[in-house]
Amino acid sequence: MKLLLLGKNGQVGWELQRALGVLGRVTALDFDSTELSADFSQPESLAATVRAVRPDVIVNAAAHTAVDKAESEPALARTLNATAPGVLAREAAALGAWLVHYSTDYVFDGSGHQARDEEAPTGPLSVYGSTKLEGEQAIRASGCKHLILRTSWVYGARGGNFAKTMLRLAAERDTLSVIDDQFGAPTGADLLADITAQALRQLRERPALGGTYHAVAAGETSWHGYARFVIEAARARGQAIKVAPEAVAPVPTSAFPTPARRPLNSRLATHKLRAAFGLHLPPWQQGVERLLAEITSAS
Ligand code: NDP
Repeated sequence: MKLLLLGKNGQVGWELQRALGVLGRVTALDFDSTELSADFSQPESLAATVRAVRPDVIVNAAAHTAVDKAESEPALARTLNATAPGVLAREAAALGAWLVHYSTDYVFDGSGHQARDEEAPTGPLSVYGSTKLEGEQAIRASGCKHLILRTSWVYGARGGNFAKTMLRLAAERDTLSVIDDQFGAPTGADLLADITAQALRQLRERPALGGTYHAVAAGETSWHGYARFVIEAARARGQAIKVAPEAVAPVPTSAFPTPARRPLNSRLATHKLRAAFGLHLPPWQQGVERLLAEITSAS
């Protein structure tokens, strides 16, 4: 199997470089790759890359993920999140290749308290969310064989992430304020990469399983609960933590105004993914513990 991985140095892309290796030969590119273009701001240049590599599977881990910045550069966000995936989908359809793509709970409006399934009505609140939704729609409309994984609250050991920020602040400050009215599941980039590889292996035999799936770790928490977990686990690991447990204050989203509105309810139901591919999704705490082991032993 020949695979073309785009966005190889993002959180998910980095883990995909590891997880896809067992499936076949991987051509992994980032937007500054020179021989073959993988610059999503030039969508048509991606077509030439797909035609040159002629992959059996395209895995797209590149995106405009700066949610607040997207509000002030909607045209670029749309090019990266909607137009470019549309070009990849067109080329995948022409080749008969699979396209794997990642989307987000931000395609929903985040109302209510229940976990949403794949059929729930969409209603993005931000430029990021609406351009990601447009990307999904372009892929479905192209008729290509596809796997779209909607996920949330992604972290990886590589790059910046919420857990690292909380650890830094907890070592510097006596008090912290963290949002406690947004709910979701922190999901490891490593878990997403492993789900992708497992699914691709099965899609080879059972192409009818293609489609859109929700893919997040099990359980749920708020950003406040996530911060408390990270800080307590780091303290238990002997990390220097200044802030006392009771000094991590819960605050509403309105305490931190941001250019982009974020959904309060990011809960995603995963029964479709688990049933289709026979997967077990571990509790979110398990992956975060591993992340802490990696980043605290490295510091
Ligand atoms: P990252 O921001 O870590 O990775 C995105 C990658 O896209 C980076 O390597 C980035 O490069 C690259 N990129 C940016 N601009 C361009 C461009 N013009 N051409 C090509 N590549 C470019 O994101 P994640 O790994 O976290 O996200 C992977 C997928 O998961 C995305 O589709 C995202 O929408 C989705 N997702 C992410 C969530 C999250 O919490 N992070 C939540 C829900 C869904 P560089 O870093 O050099 O700019």
